Amino acid sequence: MKKRNTVLLLGIVSIIILISVQIFIIRSVWKQKDEMFSLRYTMRSQEALNMINRRMRTDGFDTVRFLLGRYSERANLELHTIKDEKELAAKKKDILDYFTKVVNQEQDLSGLLSSYFERRGFEKNFKFSIVINNLEMISTDTIIVYQSEGFANRRPSDRGPRPAPPEISKEKILVNWFRMEDNNYRFLFEYFIDFSDKQKVILKETAAYLAMSGFSIIVVVIIFMFTYRNLMEEKRLSNLKTDFINNMTHELKTPLSTITVAGKTLEMVQIRTNEEKILETAKLIGKQSVHLNQLINMILEISMWERTQFQLDKKTVDIEELMNDVVESFKSGGGNGSTITQKYNFCGAKVDLDVVYFTTLVNNLLSNAVKYSDKDPVIDIEGFIADNNISLKVSDNGIGISKNDQKHVFDKFYRASTGNIHKFKGLGLGLYYVKKIAEAHGGDVTVSSKPGKGSTFTVTLPINQ
Ligand code: ADP
Repeated sequence: MKKRNTVLLLGIVSIIILISVQIFIIRSVWKQKDEMFSLRYTMRSQEALNMINRRMRTDGFDTVRFLLGRYSERANLELHTIKDEKELAAKKKDILDYFTKVVNQEQDLSGLLSSYFERRGFEKNFKFSIVINNLEMISTDTIIVYQSEGFANRRPSDRGPRPAPPEISKEKILVNWFRMEDNNYRFLFEYFIDFSDKQKVILKETAAYLAMSGFSIIVVVIIFMFTYRNLMEEKRLSNLKTDFINNMTHELKTPLSTITVAGKTLEMVQIRTNEEKILETAKLIGKQSVHLNQLINMILEISMWERTQFQLDKKTVDIEELMNDVVESFKSGGGNGSTITQKYNFCGAKVDLDVVYFTTLVNNLLSNAVKYSDKDPVIDIEGFIADNNISLKVSDNGIGISKNDQKHVFDKFYRASTGNIHKFKGLGLGLYYVKKIAEAHGGDVTVSSKPGKGSTFTVTLPINQ
């Protein structure tokens, strides 16, 4: 149990580690692809800007520049006459609003970029956004209308001939910084693009990797499950063998110790003179020897089956007659106070079978029905013909078999958990025998049972094999 839990725990931990590593790798690949995508479009938009500059002699903001130039002259004059703080703030806001509106609505860059992308066969649908960094109105002095947060610290080389080069942004792609100025204003802003399909594109690019990693996880989980199942099966078999050895020792010891005690009894002087007692003890020795012999034969026979095929000595028999004989001799052999009813509908069918083995099969089912019973055993035997097979149903009112045990009762050495306590003696070979015999005749045996209610064993044998 401890080993089983350790193996399970180790397996689960390894699978979790594997999944975590895969997630980590996928995340890194995703991040890399994301960055590559941004880099690709940053470079493409740079190319586009250069091309537009060169060929069309525009940066896409000509209309904007014209409108802002016209507006800023008037706005600048007004701004410089205002003394009141509040009024000044309101005017600054108006100016900023106007600049924002014009730069967003009147720019041509988005259209130019989009058609450039389309011509090159790249993704052409993007959203743009403009982030204003700095807006100053200039006259004799400079009035700062707006300055974005931290702008003063990261102020780009706005005095230089070109704006600072674009950086790669995580969310959006920075196409460029733009600077516009004339005698009345100085305006600095960033132009970004963003692809709503970006995630889809990255997903497409990483799909093969994702599928491979998912597949490898599934393969590892399946291999683990198989290995675990095999290990558990081996463990179960080894437990069965240990149980068998314990049960066998117990089974063999009982008749042996009876024989030993009986031998000691015969040595006693007072017994030797009592003929009746001698006979009784001799009978007891005889009975126990037969039982011992049966047990040993059963074990030997099974080990022989492992090596060689069943040797059946088949005869054609009337199945109903045979059943009556077998049940009668079971009853006369004790039957342990059981009530047995028989109901046959064989229509005089004749079957080829090995009478000795078949008798063992029926006897094993009947003795189990008696053995695994906690009240007076009531056994119903039903027999009929179905689909060219004879069917034999042996039902009892015994302790029943749990669903899980039903799967294994025909396995060699298997004893249901309640069967392991010595209340019910056995070696776990009876039903294995039944199954082997049924199969050797080309048939099969199945069980249906409800714990506490009873069990039904159904044997089917083909009629004319
Ligand atoms: P054994 O009787 O020697 O244990 P068997 O192979 O005959 O071995 O049976 C295997 C197990 O199946 C038994 O240990 C018992 O738990 C269960 N079993 C068999 N027949 C019956 C029955 N008629 N009712 C309840 N349990 C049964």
